[in-house]
Amino acid sequence: MKRSDVKSNRVGRAMLATGGVTTGYRALVAFECVLCARTIAPGELFSRQTRRTPTGAMGATTTDPVCLTCRPLRLEDTGETETAVTDARED
Ligand SMILES: [Zn+2]
Repeated sequence: MKRSDVKSNRVGRAMLATGGVTTGYRALVAFECVLCARTIAPGELFSRQTRRTPTGAMGATTTDPVCLTCRPLRLEDTGETETAVTDARED
């Protein structure tokens, strides 16, 4: 997998049903939810959770896709345009 592959668009800030704030993404390819293994189809919104990788480079983290069923979210109307992001790392 090339790190430059774009697999999702960052949509912007999204409110979680639990009251928190996260970043919403729109899938450009099919993802598998890390929590329930449901397929997140291209075009669907989803969020991500950060997971520290057990081995490898110091401080390395990865982000796992989480579907709307597991973590409902509502986009804030910020007027932002969707931004293409790479799937490799989120700052
Ligand atoms: Zn799920």
